[in-house]
Amino acid sequence: MNTQEYIQIEEQYGAHNYHPLDVVITRGDGVWVYDVDGRKYLDCLSAYSAVNQGHVHPKILAALVEQAGKITLTSRAFRNDQLPLFYKELSELTGYEMSLPMNSGAEAVETALKIARKWAYQVKKVPRHQAEIITCTGNFHGRTITTISFSTEPLYRDDFGPFTPGFVTVPYGDANAIAKAITPNTAAVFLEPIQGEGGVIIPPKGYLKKVAEICKKNNVLFIADEIQTGLGRTGKLFAAQHEGVRPDVTVIGKALAGGFYPVSAVLSDKEVLGLFTPGEHGSTFGGNPLAAAIARAALKVIVEENLVQRAADLGEYFVEQLSEISSPHVKEVRGKGLLIGVELNEKAGGARRFCEALQNKGILAKETHERVIRFTPPLVIDKETIDWALPSIREVLNME
Ligand SMILES: *Cc1c(COP(=O)(O)O)cnc(C)c1O
Repeated sequence: MNTQEYIQIEEQYGAHNYHPLDVVITRGDGVWVYDVDGRKYLDCLSAYSAVNQGHVHPKILAALVEQAGKITLTSRAFRNDQLPLFYKELSELTGYEMSLPMNSGAEAVETALKIARKWAYQVKKVPRHQAEIITCTGNFHGRTITTISFSTEPLYRDDFGPFTPGFVTVPYGDANAIAKAITPNTAAVFLEPIQGEGGVIIPPKGYLKKVAEICKKNNVLFIADEIQTGLGRTGKLFAAQHEGVRPDVTVIGKALAGGFYPVSAVLSDKEVLGLFTPGEHGSTFGGNPLAAAIARAALKVIVEENLVQRAADLGEYFVEQLSEISSPHVKEVRGKGLLIGVELNEKAGGARRFCEALQNKGILAKETHERVIRFTPPLVIDKETIDWALPSIREVLNME
C-alpha cells in the first residue's frame, strides 16, 4: 500500500483528533525515519520529546526484548524484580528520595495534583476539599478533564465542561501574580519551566527561582511539569536546574522510556510521596516489569551517551545557526538546549505550510499553535546532521 491508501483508511476509520502531516512512517533509526514509499526524513519532533534517545535505540530495544521474554505484567498486587531497581536508579539520577510510576504524562500530572491535595490536608491542615492549586496561562498538562480544567486554550476546553474546581490561573512568567494568588488554602504552584506546547515559551530569567522562594515562604508545594523539558531536552537533566531550582515535586514522562513504551513518574521526597497509603492511588500498568526494564535502559542511555551535555552544546549551535537565517517571515528564534522554537510573523501565513515545505525537503517538524515551528530533534543528533538540515530550513523560511 502507498501513502495515500494508508491515509484514506486512517481518515475513514479513525477519530480525527489530530491533523498529522501526510507522511506514513514505517521505520526509524536514530534521528531518521522512513516512510512507506521509501523516503527518508530527519525527525525534528522526536514524538514531542519522547524519543530523546533516538528511534529504536539498540540498547533500549535489547532491554525490551529481554524483559518481554520473561514477564511483562504482574500488576502491583505482586512485586516484580524490575520495579525496585527502577526506583533506586531514578532516585540516584534525579536526587529525589522517591517516585511513583504511571503510564501517560497526564496520569502522572493527575497523580501529582492528588498528592498535593493530600499534602495540603494532612500536613498544611487546609480545610478538607478547600485546597487550591495555582496554574499558569498557556499551560499544557495533558488532555484529561482535570488537566483541561485549567487550560487557557479554548480548543482544548470549549466543548468539554463542566470542569474540575480548585484551580486558579495566573499569567505565565509573572512571579508577583503567583504571590498575589496565594491564600491560606493554596496547596501548590504547578507549572512548566518552559512551555513546550505553548510555543516554546521561556519565562523571564529568575522566574523559577522567585517562584520557588515564594512557595517556600508560604508553605506551598512547587510542582514542575518536566514531562517535555525533562531528561536532558533543554541541556540540563531538568529545565528548572538552569536556575538552580529543585521543585518539591517534578513530573516526568515522554523520554523516560525512550519512545518504546508509555512510562511516566512523579518524583518527590518522602515527606510528600510518603503520604500515599495502600489503595488511595494506583494503575494496573503503572510500574510493570516491562515498563521498568525499558525505563531503566532509557535512563542509562541518557547518562552513558552524555545526552544532557549534547543537548546543551548542539542546542546552542542550532539556535545560533537558526538565528543567523535572514527571513522576512521569522519573528524570533528561541530555545534552551534542543528545545527550539522559530516564531513566525503574523503575515507569514501560519507555520503549517512551512512544515509541509520542510517535509518535502526531508525534514519533519510540527507547528505548535499557529505560528511556531518547533525544532526538537533526538538528542543523539550530531553537528553534521544539523549542518545538513540548515540549508533546507533556510530555503523554506525564505519561500514566498
Ligand atoms: C506531553 C505533555 C503532557 C501529557 O503527556 P501525555 O503522555 O500525552 O499524557 C503533560 N505535560 C507536558 C508539559 C507535556 O509536554
